[in-house]
Amino acid sequence: MATKNEIQLGLLMSVLAACVLIDASGRAADAQTPGAARIVSTNVQQRIDLAADLYLRKIGAGAYVIGHLAPWLCNSVLVEMSDGTLVMGGTPCTPEATKLVLAWSEQEFGKRKMVAINTGYHVDNLGGNPALIEAGIPVYGSDMSVTLLKERGEPMRGTTLKLMGDTNSPFHAIYAKMTFRPPDRLFPIQDGLTLTFGGEVVRVIYPGPTQAPDKVVVYFPDRKMLFGSCMILAGDRPGNTAEADMKQWPVAIRKLGQFPAKVVVPGHGERLDPGLIQHTLNLLDRQ
Ligand SMILES: [Zn+2]
Repeated sequence: MATKNEIQLGLLMSVLAACVLIDASGRAADAQTPGAARIVSTNVQQRIDLAADLYLRKIGAGAYVIGHLAPWLCNSVLVEMSDGTLVMGGTPCTPEATKLVLAWSEQEFGKRKMVAINTGYHVDNLGGNPALIEAGIPVYGSDMSVTLLKERGEPMRGTTLKLMGDTNSPFHAIYAKMTFRPPDRLFPIQDGLTLTFGGEVVRVIYPGPTQAPDKVVVYFPDRKMLFGSCMILAGDRPGNTAEADMKQWPVAIRKLGQFPAKVVVPGHGERLDPGLIQHTLNLLDRQ
């Protein structure tokens, strides 16, 4: 086991190494260059509270995990790509919370191009869409998510309310009447999606049916950061398994092992380490 000092020293060394690389390549080692040091780690550098139920955790230069307690913790991510474009993976659960993130982002980065990627049709994957679309932000999502939202949107609302149980929660009233909006830029789920911003790529991958038929992951290869969304579990049991494919789910998770991820962001929960892949397999194995 490395001591805390050793870990800190290792971290410092990798930061120094990155600086040397930037200098050697002749590029300006300007900390303000968007995405200049594309290093993320599981060490949270800063926590930014936007509301009682909404916060961001900064895990590297221009890389944030958005936490929305709606009422359980739902994660999405916000990453500043090398050309300055902001990519939102998943969304907070409601348009209101998403608007707060957009307002913060404008304050922090100024006016920037932004794109969003829905990770499924459930409310915790696309609940923020109305706010994004109203703000003129292109929202990417799979063809399957659009079909499922149309066919199962209302049963999904019912399942969400049932899982919450507490009818006094403010989120009960919000989910009971909120409008679900599909993504407005579609991709065939089997093909996935690759978007390039300057020199930096983001990949959307469908490893097969998991916690729901249409969940996808968002991978940032330059940062080795994997947003696993709801197919990656961080708690002590799988949550909503109403539509889960318990046989194919572990098969899909094993495919994620191909990514040399340093940070793995689950759909729910605080943990961010790559051990979550094995943790998910262990939980599914016990079912
Ligand atoms: Zn979820």
